[in-house]
Amino acid sequence: MQDTEQSIPPTAKPPSPPAVPPPHTPPIPSRLHLDREKHLDITWADGTRSVYTLTYLRSHCPCAGCKKDREEQSTRKTRVNLLSADYGGATIKALKADLVGNYALRIEWSDNHSTGIYSFEYLNTIRAGAGG
Ligand SMILES: [Zn+2]
Repeated sequence: MQDTEQSIPPTAKPPSPPAVPPPHTPPIPSRLHLDREKHLDITWADGTRSVYTLTYLRSHCPCAGCKKDREEQSTRKTRVNLLSADYGGATIKALKADLVGNYALRIEWSDNHSTGIYSFEYLNTIRAGAGG
């Protein structure tokens, strides 16, 4: 018995109808307080509260450079987690923070890093690890 059957090319998928995105309300802080030496304290519109230590925030900087560092570090599987340690031997501080539009916070760090823009959505995502 010969098996001459050719593989059937996958049929082209019909164009999917334009999906209606689910109504999505970005998380909004009702109160936001930055202690420039300690933490960022956010009370969300739903009444819950998150407190992020500055070290935690700095180590979760969402900018492309830091993301890459984190990825490289996780692939290297070092046992030493540099990013959760203090920066440059000194405790990280926030020099200033600016609201970006109505949706994010940009923090300028004491290690001269200020490209990370923390959207409230992102902050809401990482709150689970913040212990708040
Ligand atoms: Zn960064």
